Amino acid sequence: MALPLREELRGIAPYGAPQIDVPVALNVNENPYPPSEAVVADVAAAAAEAARTLNRYPDREFVALRAALADYLGHGVTPEQVWAANGSNEVMLQILQAFGGPGRTAVSFAPTYSMYPEYARDAMTGWVVGHRAEDFTLDPAHAVAVVKEHQPSVVLLPSPNNPTGTALAPDTVAAVCAASAEVDGVVVIDEAYGEFRRSGTPSALELLPTTPNLVVSRTMSKAFALAGARLGYLAASPQICDALRVVRLPYHLSALTQAVALVALRHREELLGRVDDLRAERDATVAWLRAQGLTVADSDANFALFGTFPDRHAVWQGLLDRGVLIRETGPDGWLRVSIGTPAEMAAFKAALLEVLG
Ligand code: PMP
Repeated sequence: MALPLREELRGIAPYGAPQIDVPVALNVNENPYPPSEAVVADVAAAAAEAARTLNRYPDREFVALRAALADYLGHGVTPEQVWAANGSNEVMLQILQAFGGPGRTAVSFAPTYSMYPEYARDAMTGWVVGHRAEDFTLDPAHAVAVVKEHQPSVVLLPSPNNPTGTALAPDTVAAVCAASAEVDGVVVIDEAYGEFRRSGTPSALELLPTTPNLVVSRTMSKAFALAGARLGYLAASPQICDALRVVRLPYHLSALTQAVALVALRHREELLGRVDDLRAERDATVAWLRAQGLTVADSDANFALFGTFPDRHAVWQGLLDRGVLIRETGPDGWLRVSIGTPAEMAAFKAALLEVLG
């Protein structure tokens, strides 16, 4: 018999960058610095403590974690304004489940994070993309026009953007939020890479008190160096958080996840301690790539988009042949490299020089 697979899922390959075992993995914007032995010991102790009650379901409302995340975010954010799930991917799927759905539309602006259309598809929500300018900034007039025309119930805007690294100007965020409010839509500013912004580019959290339809999404996968634990979260109005409680699966955040995230927040000074190093390494990488005559998008994230190559696949493959895995993503001709340790970046540069001959 034929499987009753939904029409729009037929022939679709599961999303995901290749997980290849290579000496230098710079392809999924991970933090290259593993936790210290002190953090490992605390995680192990917290996991052991949680293990003693694993016969019971975890705290469904993850009250302690919401309070700790609110404290970390600052900006007057309260625990009732915080929501979390297994990675910000899950947070955003929940947003589409609650605020999207059949007959509704979600909007983003290309190039944008490649998972967004998948959330929309999985939540049976229409998908519309506007465009970013040649330098990957977003023209507020264009964004507002797209919102007015398509009246989306959800706008998804990464800032800094993946794959370009571009941070949004606060005025642009405010203009999109105002236009969306007119059509009763919510705006998600996806700050997965927020902690890596260059100084002077503020977080959308600043707009939260005056913007009831704004959602600011964050993750512990990048700056916190905790991708393996799967913890994403957001700040928004208590009403938006309450709507997400309706669609979440019961006990979606395991006791172990909650315990590990709490330990990470307690150790945030150490875990975030490498952010400055990574920003400096990013700026140096961007400058080096430009010095090689390449075009590089300005980056506020822990990666750089560079190009352009008539055959980017050949460059990607050449790097892989030399043990350096980067990402073939973004507009035609561009490649994205995550920022690793100084040694990893040296290996990347040496390999790229060889490939470009
Ligand atoms: N948003 C953006 C823009 C991302 O690049 C990523 C990860 N690549 C995510 C969200 C999801 O990250 P996570 O699910 O690990 O929180």
